[in-house]
Amino acid sequence: MAGKLTFTMIKPRAVKDNHIGEILKMINEAGFVIKAMKFTKLSVDQASAFYVVHQGKPFYEKLVEFMSSGPIVAALLEKENAVEDFRQLIGATNPENAAEGTVRKLYATSMTENAVHGSDSDENAMIEADFFFSKTERF
Ligand code: ADP
Ligand code: MG
Repeated sequence: MAGKLTFTMIKPRAVKDNHIGEILKMINEAGFVIKAMKFTKLSVDQASAFYVVHQGKPFYEKLVEFMSSGPIVAALLEKENAVEDFRQLIGATNPENAAEGTVRKLYATSMTENAVHGSDSDENAMIEADFFFSKTERF
């Protein structure tokens, strides 16, 4: 059964470009409820750990450098079928392939700087939420 929670980050470039408000509006209008949220910045070590599944891939170092380059918004979101519906809302990893009206189509500037993160499974949503939020930070 599909879970009700997913985890997202608004990535540094979208924060720098002042798109936090527009992206959160899209998230709310798509029916997601914010259960936890944080404006923070990843260290190189934290970004390396968060993306450790991609270690060894050609884009890994650039991704870690980018994700630790400025503040991000991290959030835990609730909705029926959260993981799949959120990935529909954000669109394809490569913004050139992202559907019209998706977050990445609207706000990504490149494959690396693709505006937002979205969990790829219920299990990873939990792991990623635990990376950022304690129990007392979830409502
Ligand atoms: P997604 O974020 O859509 O789940 P992945 O988990 O495959 O995509 O990759 C994690 C992140 O790494 C992507 O969101 C993107 O920022 C970056 N990335 C993935 N593939 C590439 C690539 N081929 N070139 C540059 N950056 C990439
Ligand atoms: Mg992924």
